[in-house]
Amino acid sequence: MTKIISEPVKKILGQINNLDLGDINVPKITHALSMGLGGYGCAVISQKNGKAKLEYYEGITKKEFVKRMKNPKDLLSFVLKIGDQIYRLLILQKKERHLTKAQKADINTLLSIISMALTMRQVSKDRITETQIINQLNLNITTSLDENKIIRNLESAARRMLKINDIFIFYRRDDSFVGSKNSFKIINLPKAIYSKLFKVQQIFTVPKSRVASLKKIIPIKTVRDVTFIPFTIKNELRGFFTLPGNIMILSRNFVLTRIKFLANQAGLALERIDLFRKMNSALRESHGLQDLIKIMISSLDLSSLSTEILQRAQEFLGFKRILFSIYDPELQSFRRITGVGISAKKLKEAQAIHPPLEAIMELFNNRYRISNSYYVPAKDAQIICKKVKHYELYKSTPIKNRIPELWDPGDIFVSPIYSKNREIVALLSLDMPMNNLAPTLNNVKLLEIFDDFLGMAIENSQLFEKIERLSNTDEMTDVYNYRFLREKLKSLIKNRVSPISLIMIDLDNFKECNDSLGHLYGDEVLKMFSECLVDAIGKRGYVVRYGGDEFIILLPKTSRKSSKTLIDRIGNYSNKHKTCRAHKPCSFSYGIAVYPRNGLNLGSLIDYADRLLYQQKAEKRNEY
Ligand code: GH3
Ligand code: MG
Repeated sequence: MTKIISEPVKKILGQINNLDLGDINVPKITHALSMGLGGYGCAVISQKNGKAKLEYYEGITKKEFVKRMKNPKDLLSFVLKIGDQIYRLLILQKKERHLTKAQKADINTLLSIISMALTMRQVSKDRITETQIINQLNLNITTSLDENKIIRNLESAARRMLKINDIFIFYRRDDSFVGSKNSFKIINLPKAIYSKLFKVQQIFTVPKSRVASLKKIIPIKTVRDVTFIPFTIKNELRGFFTLPGNIMILSRNFVLTRIKFLANQAGLALERIDLFRKMNSALRESHGLQDLIKIMISSLDLSSLSTEILQRAQEFLGFKRILFSIYDPELQSFRRITGVGISAKKLKEAQAIHPPLEAIMELFNNRYRISNSYYVPAKDAQIICKKVKHYELYKSTPIKNRIPELWDPGDIFVSPIYSKNREIVALLSLDMPMNNLAPTLNNVKLLEIFDDFLGMAIENSQLFEKIERLSNTDEMTDVYNYRFLREKLKSLIKNRVSPISLIMIDLDNFKECNDSLGHLYGDEVLKMFSECLVDAIGKRGYVVRYGGDEFIILLPKTSRKSSKTLIDRIGNYSNKHKTCRAHKPCSFSYGIAVYPRNGLNLGSLIDYADRLLYQQKAEKRNEY
């Protein structure tokens, strides 16, 4: 009886014993067996993707083998499994000498020893490659800050590790998913896929019958099942893998375990980039804020700066369209001061409307509140806009089946600006977010810092306006004072305005009015007379109380002749006026001086006008 443990077989077993496996391969095994059995014909057939392939043969010609295959009576078949690879070992028995049972058992034992040893070698080889792939991937993704590069690295690592070609990764950026080959908007995800990815956040398979609907988003070539593997950070979807095949098959082959590992890596790498980006943008934002604050405090005249402030705020706050309104407590409504991202025509239309506070309060509902601001989704906004007439500048209908994370053009986002004592002073209406996302608690923080500074700037400018008005105004009559006259004439002369008329006016016999009707009545007369002057002059010039019952009217670009016509008008006005009419001696005398002819500065002009005025008074006295 032939023992198969002959020299060649012993050698292989010895190699296995010493773990010197590098040299052992299928042809060698076939050879050893063929020799061990004393020259039996042996052949090896591999099976790949359901196809049989003759790999190796010995002790027999290929032609003979194929011929004998047709009559398998003399063929003995053994299975050799190395890793996932299955080989069929065929031994052609000699007619006269069939293998004994013991020999067959020996062969099976031998093959299973070889199978185990080589499978282990295959697995450890795979492990080593896998470790290499992972190490390389880790090196790549921890040294790069380039999202696209990281995604490409992850994708190629996944393909090499899993030996599957059509793996794609998509990661979320604002309102889109970005992939290595193509990108698409979240809104283009089929609804079922959207809800599985965003809400369920678990692995799922789209069967090949429904894969056609995915063609628009992922580059699928052949029609097969497609499995989605989402990856999240802190429960927020950051992206997903897609790979061909269904969950069952993929899990059976340990693909899912590996892909989950890769998904983790993807999440970590993207989180790192995100952190870096946040840090960078915080830095940029703080610079932007500094610039804005500089502008805000550089001048106390906010109205001249508000457009520039808004233009800078666009980039800084991430909204393309911003409308800025100031609250007018007297009218209890908002005046639209300026806007950016709005056409001049639309802005003019908006400025013609003064939304009352009462109506705007409809937006300030706790339901819509995000910190200090209010975000009203389009559906509700539509209803409110019917009450807050003309609030919406641009009409739009709410998107059906909207995705809540995304901005709908019909949404309203307003940020009220408060004074130090929490009174509303202004309102920012923000539209067209640059990232196309609905506002969240995270991104209103910056807006509210901005609001606080803007609130302070508004308060300061209003205070400044008030102080400036007070310092230029005569307290009793509310017309301008001498200080204003001096500054105004100076600036007119500096700006080469000419001619300028200065009319000096003094009430006649005002003392008598005081004496007979009382000082308080006298005050009333002065106030009424001031009003008469303001009404008569309108926007042609400035009415100034010079002192006591003396007034000066300053008229830029007005000749002596035109000034005289105006004086006549004042006469008519004061005659018509009730109080003036009730008190008969409300007549006045005047003198006109014209710059530059009668004087080059305020002092000389006043002297000139004063002289004429007293001349007139003296003439009147002579008449009586
Ligand atoms: P004339 O026709 O020459 O101008 O005589 P007059 O009575 O108008 O007297 P004059 O212009 O010389 O003096 C102005 C008077 O106006 C003096 C003062 O009693 C009075 N007066 C000045 N300031 C006020 C004021 O604020 N309120 C009131 N009620 N009277 C004032
Ligand atoms: Mg007088």
